[in-house]
Amino acid sequence: MKTNNLGYPRIGSNRELKKSSELYWAGKIPVQELLATAATIRKENWQLQAQAGIDLIPSNDFSFYDQVLDLTLTLGAIPARYAEIAKTKPALDLYFAMARGSQKEGQDVVAMEMTKWFDTNYHYIVPEFTKNQQFSLFSEKIIDEFKEANQLGIKTKPVLIGPITYLLLGKEKEEGFHRIDLIDSLLPVYFEILEKLKAEGATHIQFDEPFLALNLTDKERNTYTKVYHEINNRFPDLKVILANYFDCFGENIETALALPVDTLHLDLVRCPSQLDDILESGKLAAHVNLSLGVVDGRNIWKNDFKKSLAFIEKAVAALGTDRILIAPSCSLIHSPCDLDLETNDQTLTPEIKQWLAFAKQKIEETVVLRNLASGEITENDQAHFQENTLANENRKTSKLIHNDGVKNRVASITAGDDERKNAFAVRRKKQIEALQLPLFPTTTIGSFPQTPEVRSWRAKFKKGELSQSEYDALLQKETEETIRFQEESGIDVLVHGEFERNDMVEYFGEQLDGFSFTKNGWVQSYGSRCVKPPVIYGDVSRPNPMTVRWAEFAQSLTPKWVKGMLTGPVTILQWSFVRNDQPRSETCTQIALAIRDEVVDLEQAGIKIIQIDEPAIREGLPLRKEEWANYLDWAIKTFRISASGVADDTQIHTHMCYSEFNDIIQNIADMDADVITIECSRSQMELLDAFADFKYPNEIGPGVYDIHSPRVPSNDEMVHLLEKAAAVIPADQLWVNPDCGLKTRHWDETKKALIEMVNAAKKMRIAAKNTVLA
Ligand code: GLN
Ligand code: ZN
Repeated sequence: MKTNNLGYPRIGSNRELKKSSELYWAGKIPVQELLATAATIRKENWQLQAQAGIDLIPSNDFSFYDQVLDLTLTLGAIPARYAEIAKTKPALDLYFAMARGSQKEGQDVVAMEMTKWFDTNYHYIVPEFTKNQQFSLFSEKIIDEFKEANQLGIKTKPVLIGPITYLLLGKEKEEGFHRIDLIDSLLPVYFEILEKLKAEGATHIQFDEPFLALNLTDKERNTYTKVYHEINNRFPDLKVILANYFDCFGENIETALALPVDTLHLDLVRCPSQLDDILESGKLAAHVNLSLGVVDGRNIWKNDFKKSLAFIEKAVAALGTDRILIAPSCSLIHSPCDLDLETNDQTLTPEIKQWLAFAKQKIEETVVLRNLASGEITENDQAHFQENTLANENRKTSKLIHNDGVKNRVASITAGDDERKNAFAVRRKKQIEALQLPLFPTTTIGSFPQTPEVRSWRAKFKKGELSQSEYDALLQKETEETIRFQEESGIDVLVHGEFERNDMVEYFGEQLDGFSFTKNGWVQSYGSRCVKPPVIYGDVSRPNPMTVRWAEFAQSLTPKWVKGMLTGPVTILQWSFVRNDQPRSETCTQIALAIRDEVVDLEQAGIKIIQIDEPAIREGLPLRKEEWANYLDWAIKTFRISASGVADDTQIHTHMCYSEFNDIIQNIADMDADVITIECSRSQMELLDAFADFKYPNEIGPGVYDIHSPRVPSNDEMVHLLEKAAAVIPADQLWVNPDCGLKTRHWDETKKALIEMVNAAKKMRIAAKNTVLA
């Protein structure tokens, strides 16, 4: 029985790659230094896995930015706008230009688009295809890294995104073809790569094909059959490990089971029923091995050895030990690196720490599981097993986790708890009466610029260099200035600016029970960007109000309305490591009740408008369409629970980024927020197409300017966008606001843009008045 690893974090245990890349981009270190950092990380990763006893150690899982972009460069699918850079610059600079754009020496080339990797928080660079797309071997990274490991005495299994998944990840940049049709021009380059790897002595290759977990067309499914037969015909001796992960095969299962590959990898964390389905179907070809992904690559919990062994034993009973491999469920790039580096007992208490495993620990778990299942058990394995059993038992009963008060409250939620007292039409009248806002009311999304100064105050406060009262005084001053600016510029609904917040999830997590944090639990989000998600380990409750003090303070400064600012339950859930001992919906409901209490407290403190941000609702959608309804059902319900504790005349707003929700617009309407603000301006209000067919019932603020760029738009541009919006949405339902929060912007451009925005609203009001008069 072998062990198989799909991929290891490449950021370095202390984010060495991030630090080195950013220095290189800033021109502060020579390229040799960056290359040396990268080589060290690769070497340490390979050696760690070799020493732990992993049989199939991945290579080419390293990346300077993103593995999809690596492949794009390998295949020479370089968009035309980079032709000049490709001619004049080293390949690594071309690569970074494709990832990040380039504004050097008079040229200005935009980056390639970036989007989320399946349902993870990792972002990949989207391949761009033209109708006559040519592919040719441009970079030999995969071969070089295989050789590099060989030189260290470690024979690896090169990893490559499979050809079908690669094509499906991309986008057509011209009309008149489907990217899957490029397969015939793509395959020869794959063959060339395999040829070269074979010549260097490679015996295995891992093809990542997670599109096998999605709803495919017949044509796409048939392409799998065609492609893997061709590969097998040309390379009959090469052992192909076909990796599917993140969900079940669904209706693709028969196709997958019939592919002529050496090993099929299954994600048994995301799809535990799959093993039975496969074994009972009797359709697994006799020569195909199974790689059992039993160790969760996407979460931070210690494996439950007893549960995993039950899977393994079942598979062994059916197929024999020789045909079974033990593996993490997916690449470990979605896990933090090393739990051993968490040495601060105050941040992560020993009781919680014993429940966790990061990438390095998951590698050990994989090997111990193999040893336990194969009967070659050492004393160390025995000790590991005992420790694992104890930790899992402790977790089941720990007082830290289980709070009967919270569980009872969730159990006693009744039908009306997710409904406002009256329907929107009734609420609306009362809100108009109570709030007295003009037509086209102006507002912002919440945060104002988090200047280096503001961030330095927080850092000093955390280090104890500023006292609580000194820190508060600084934040109060910043808040007051922000209120004054908003008053002067004529914004109608003000915000306090969120200066006290580090991050929109962490800020709430820190104040809720059931959350813990790490010091070094970084996971790559995109490029050099890493995130450190909170850990939700227990029942969630809110010991004290979280935002009331700042909202109250800001409201005390002005006669205008100040909007209270909260992060919604789905977003808090989505951007954290969540419990695996209860359904996500249960955890989300607990968070929703905590937010509901906060909403009610804000109302009681005199805050009449409260925004509950839910930017992550769309990205929480399951990969397989048949699971959408169930997810949307509880996700929308939890939002409604959080929003429904208030009186009719309290106005609830929500906000969402990324406008790709045309397919779930009914569900967005079902959230029944009084006002929704959404990202729209980059797509020139494309989103509004959806509103043309679908009569959105409540009020809506389609973002009128893009906060992701420092550019200051003119009021005429914004008037133009608002006119487009007013063509499909009644004017009295429209709000005027930027796309998203302003925290990453500078003050000067923010001030100018918001003044333009208010002028745009004024022009719209005058135009509306004239129409009425006429
Ligand atoms: N209120 C948050 C802010 O303005 C919303 C951020 C977001 O949508 N991601 O920063
Ligand atoms: Zn946003």
